[in-house]
Amino acid sequence: QTCALIVGGGHAGSEAAVSLRQNGFAGRILIISDEPGLPYQRPPLSKAFLAGTLGAEALPIRPAAAYEKANIEIRNGASVSSLDLEGRSVQLADGSSLGWSHLILATGSRARRLQVVGLGERQPDNLHYLRSQADAERLREQWVEGQRLVIVGGGYIGLEVAAAAKKAGLQVTVLEAQPRVLARVTAPEVSSFYEQVHRAAGIELRLNTQLEQVSLDASGQMVEAMVTTDGARIPLDLVLVGVGAIANTELAEQAGLEVDNGIVVDNCSRTGAAGVYAIGDCSNHPSALYGCRLRLESIPNAIEQARAAASAITGKPTPYVALPWFWSDQYDLKLQIAGINQGYDQVVLRGSKALRSFVAFYLRAGRLIAADCINRQPEFMAIKKLVQAGFAGDSELLADESVNLKDLTA
Ligand code: FAD
Repeated sequence: QTCALIVGGGHAGSEAAVSLRQNGFAGRILIISDEPGLPYQRPPLSKAFLAGTLGAEALPIRPAAAYEKANIEIRNGASVSSLDLEGRSVQLADGSSLGWSHLILATGSRARRLQVVGLGERQPDNLHYLRSQADAERLREQWVEGQRLVIVGGGYIGLEVAAAAKKAGLQVTVLEAQPRVLARVTAPEVSSFYEQVHRAAGIELRLNTQLEQVSLDASGQMVEAMVTTDGARIPLDLVLVGVGAIANTELAEQAGLEVDNGIVVDNCSRTGAAGVYAIGDCSNHPSALYGCRLRLESIPNAIEQARAAASAITGKPTPYVALPWFWSDQYDLKLQIAGINQGYDQVVLRGSKALRSFVAFYLRAGRLIAADCINRQPEFMAIKKLVQAGFAGDSELLADESVNLKDLTA
């Protein structure tokens, strides 16, 4: 019997299952998920769900009926422990095994753990990571007005949580080791804008700040304070660690698949092994647009790679060529990012930081490679097209607000 077995019930796994059926796959489709419940959206976990404006009922990507209608089976609370590529089966943690004709690895990524003196392998009750709905629910239990929250890491997740916490009346301190927030992903102009916004909201932002040690209470179950290398001791009630994610590639590695910053796939999500695919956060694909390999952690990427796998499996290979994009919500600011700014040598600004509405265009050798758009929803489609097309015209046109960006794509 043909069976598409999908390891991981996240955004990529869910999309792959539905796409397979839409593409006419007639065999069994089975998702193995080590989490409870239906595949759900993670982005709101650090945004509206945490802020309490979006309930748990709104998190599933699609309703149960959509899987039933498409005859997609989901096995919850089950974990795949090893892969047998030759024998075309997987072993589950409960000792059982399942056969497949097509295997899709959609194992995602996990939160990087904090490594600091005083913590070791301990999991204090008031120290949080944010990857799953369960993590967010646990954090919300301690989400009480007036509590002192220390956030380790000034990346997207740290800053989104900071904004949500401030709204809920917590006292927030963000510790960032780099000289600026969002240092890995944006230009200094964009970082400084976000720093100003957070500080104006009342967040204490400590840049260039590294942790020396975590100070635990006598029981060893609660963090009392963070001690930084500059000698400061920051007392706290709860901690959120947002220091990046690690791809879940161990299964693939153990099975002998090529792994290099993610499971290596081609632009149709195929690994080097016949019938085996990898999609979403756990995979690393070639980007024709950027001429390099990318491992992306974003919903649009998970969806596009899932669709590419489904089309390849159903004999209609359609390579993934869509422009990578991403978003982040903080306060009233909607950040939308088109493309990857890696290697940029010029930044062109359009709009007004003071009016909280601007674009940072990133160019490399005169060619547009990416853009960060802050509250520019109406222009975002045109900007994506410009980036996709690799606009290489006069960069002053990008800065000139009297120029309609749609006209530049023509
Ligand atoms: P995941 O969603 O990680 O799903 C993988 C699933 O596989 C998990 O359920 C995992 O437990 C399971 N699994 C792993 N190993 C096994 C195994 N051996 N057996 C069974 N199951 C297994 N992206 C955006 O584009 N915009 C945003 O604003 C944004 N915000 C985010 C906010 C937060 C708090 C987080 C955590 C992520 C955010 N992301 C955002 C990233 C986005 O959620 C991920 O890129 C996306 O979820 C990747 O989907 P995936 O299916 O590849 O992996």
